[in-house]
Amino acid sequence: MTQRAYNFAAGPATLPETVLEQVQREMMALPGPKASILEISHRSPTFKEIIEAAEKNIRTLLGISDDYSVLFLQGGGRLLFSMIPMNLLTESQPSADYILTGSWGKAAIKEAKKLGSMNVAWDGADDKYTYTPSDTDLKLDPNAAYVHYTCNETIEGVQFAAEPQAGQVPLVCDASSDFMHKPLPIDRYGMIYACAQKNMGPAGVSIVVVRKNLLERSSDELGSYLDFKLHADQGSLMNTAPTFAIYVVRLVTDWLLNDIGGLDKMYSINQAKAKMLYDTIDSSNGFYDGHARKDSRSLMNVSFRLPSEELTTQFIDQADAADLTALAGHRSVGGVRASIYNAMPVAGVEALRDFMIDFRDKHA
Ligand code: PMP
Repeated sequence: MTQRAYNFAAGPATLPETVLEQVQREMMALPGPKASILEISHRSPTFKEIIEAAEKNIRTLLGISDDYSVLFLQGGGRLLFSMIPMNLLTESQPSADYILTGSWGKAAIKEAKKLGSMNVAWDGADDKYTYTPSDTDLKLDPNAAYVHYTCNETIEGVQFAAEPQAGQVPLVCDASSDFMHKPLPIDRYGMIYACAQKNMGPAGVSIVVVRKNLLERSSDELGSYLDFKLHADQGSLMNTAPTFAIYVVRLVTDWLLNDIGGLDKMYSINQAKAKMLYDTIDSSNGFYDGHARKDSRSLMNVSFRLPSEELTTQFIDQADAADLTALAGHRSVGGVRASIYNAMPVAGVEALRDFMIDFRDKHA
């Protein structure tokens, strides 16, 4: 069998090894149906048990009350960029506020603008998206249908330390790249959503947690798959659900609950992992230049630059040869990005830290 490297990809990303082993063990046949997850009906009792367990785990981990629906949808984060304005804008509230702290927030507002006149409540473009705003910086519209923000900008590695204050306006959060990395005060949110392929499972499913009273805004005129309310009414089984992806989300959430011991524990581990890399950057005498301002650093995506393009290429190539893979920054910004989601083992981050120290000693 091929030896596994420490994979720092931004997504699809590293999954817990115990989850992969369980998938492998169960791939020929699940105990009840004596067929694999890839071969059974999304309406079978076995899959019903799986999707219900996945939802229950998510509710338990985040303390989500019955005031919220939990949906499993296809189409990734990108489809949600369109579905959110389609469902949440109303005739009396035809506009929403967008807080832009990086590339994904920009992508989200681009889709929303096709459906209404959006208000940019804050835009960090002038400072190259290096930090998150304080509440007093936000130019919020009290009549907005919702306030949208991206709690962790995957490309820039910029993360909100806490939810922005949106007053009475529902807060809508794209948590695609940090969902479940720490406990959240869910009742602060109207809606929080995440594609699974970074912190929750494989590509193919997105998780949406939405306050039930917001579902009343969905119009009957919407195409059925685009309608949040229909998905909620039908338990995310309007059509053939992405069964394999939901099965892996169930296993990943089992791992968070049983092996890690919940999100408080996960958060301390994530803080310790990120600290190792940021300390290495800070003690490098400027050899490594972190992208984000210190107060806005992401615990999930550590983005930094080296003194030259040539050194950056050498760094990425030599790391790859040492089985520290997928460290190239996003094609739009370059540099190095180490994605260290929940499932990246502490040993992987230690190995990267040691590699960074060694590389700097050789080249500074
Ligand atoms: N939002 C964020 C914060 C992301 O990181 C990504 C994916 N990189 C997306 C949205 C888009 O997700 P998808 O590729 O599933 O459409």
